[in-house]
Amino acid sequence: MNLDKILYNKEFTRDELVFLLSLEGDDMKKLLDRALEVKLQEIGNEVYLRGLIEYSNVCVKSCLYCGVRSKNMNFKRYTVTDEEVLDCARMAMDLNYGSLAIQSGERSDKAFTDKVTYLLKEIKKLSYGKLGVTLSCGEQSPEVYKEWFEAGAHRYLLRLESTNEDLYYKIHPKDETHDFQTRIKALNSLVSIGYQAGTGVMIGLPFQTTEILADDLLYFKKLNVAMVGMGPFIPHPETPLYEFRDKIPSDRVRLGMTLKMIACLRLLMPKINMVAATADQTISPNGREDAVMAGANIIMPNLTPAKYREQYMIYPNKANVSDKPQDCHDSLDERLKRINHKVGYNKWGDSKAFSENKG
Ligand code: SAH
Repeated sequence: MNLDKILYNKEFTRDELVFLLSLEGDDMKKLLDRALEVKLQEIGNEVYLRGLIEYSNVCVKSCLYCGVRSKNMNFKRYTVTDEEVLDCARMAMDLNYGSLAIQSGERSDKAFTDKVTYLLKEIKKLSYGKLGVTLSCGEQSPEVYKEWFEAGAHRYLLRLESTNEDLYYKIHPKDETHDFQTRIKALNSLVSIGYQAGTGVMIGLPFQTTEILADDLLYFKKLNVAMVGMGPFIPHPETPLYEFRDKIPSDRVRLGMTLKMIACLRLLMPKINMVAATADQTISPNGREDAVMAGANIIMPNLTPAKYREQYMIYPNKANVSDKPQDCHDSLDERLKRINHKVGYNKWGDSKAFSENKG
């Protein structure tokens, strides 16, 4: 295959994607550089911020990779109080972030869904409609998604974790609460309600192949999602998948594969929003900047009140757990300047792919 030619393609076959995902050394660098070039051409050098609130670690699921799975009894469960959530929203306003992201363990009882609706309305009220809100609160009924949309959420991130059904069931228990088709249906209902819908996968999972990753990319393209969040899998000692920690590629290789996935997707879907995940920074100090340089354009600085952060351990040694929001903010600005990017302050930073699709 001719790399120099493929890098200028608009469409990609599965074989071409497998080829790109297998690149190393200077050839891999060529891929990342080309993705950066495409990003700068199509959406520019602004990075948009979503102040992240890790709202609750209470979860009814037991995903085999996740530290807050319901079967893990070794830590305290929490839900951030209403006043604290609203303080986070005020802080996001003070720091000129245009948007919030509310992420949570999965539950769909009415007390929870009503609470989220209430908080959305309050956030909209206190910010005079200025703060955008992305939700990442798992699978819900179409009615609940609609209620949250009407209360002011306009983006929703629901990672499929893998688009390969066999692999999906190797990383989730095979039961009603972890049904692959239900998750896909949930994602489809987000799209039809009118959200900017996002999905994504973890990278470097046990049993995952380059072919499966290439198929993930083609699946995102087929779904025509507006946003994608992908990051390296990080084994958590209190989860069943920890057993495979010696059988997965090294941190360096998993981060490299994440960067290649971001770069390939930027070539495949030039205008979508793509997150530089905290997990990137957890396995490598410059991981988030590396992701921005490979085509990502969204960062989610953590605004969760300090006392809860240790308890939102979806994976171990999470980066930035002890950061103060203001310090984190200043250093982020500085770090992005160093790589010729700038923060898009006070903007929602919606996906250009989404607005153009609509228009
Ligand atoms: N319950 C919500 C939010 C999940 S947490 C939902 O399902 O949408 C956000 C993401 O963290 C998950 O979608 C998953 O992709 C990622 N994650 C969980 N455990 C992880 C691990 N051990 N390593 C890396 N990423 C992980």
